[in-house]
Amino acid sequence: MTRAGIGYDLHRLTENRKFILGGIEVPFHKGPVGYSDGDALAHAICDALLGAAGLGDIGAHFPDTDPKWRDVSSLRFLERVRELLAERRLRIAHIDAVVILEKPKLGPHFPAMREALAQSLGISASAINLKAKTNEGVDAIGRGEAIAAQAIVTLEG
Ligand code: MG
Repeated sequence: MTRAGIGYDLHRLTENRKFILGGIEVPFHKGPVGYSDGDALAHAICDALLGAAGLGDIGAHFPDTDPKWRDVSSLRFLERVRELLAERRLRIAHIDAVVILEKPKLGPHFPAMREALAQSLGISASAINLKAKTNEGVDAIGRGEAIAAQAIVTLEG
């Protein structure tokens, strides 16, 4: 059986935060505000995986009221989701995601992100496709005040 899941996340950007996306640090003068590292891409993928597995959402599994998840790398979330999928004999066939932000340019960083995400999920980087879009200067994302990500995944099992 094939199952699809969708995920979405948005984080505000502020000075003096590391810009963590797709499990890596990208050089930039702003970063996402968040209880964890604010990795919008990892969070969107996490929600898509949980959705496809019928396991609810990221807030239910990694509540921001639990000090265990404070300032933690969001790759830990993906590692935990990997365990949940394995327990149910669900296999990740493919992940596709789009990051929406004005700056910085992400293309050069996608290979490292795919590697980091793939390693945490125990899959091949070739099973992960990443894309980036600007918001054409419109709204909070267009003004550089926020970053958003959307992901869709396919599970088999
Ligand atoms: Mg988030």
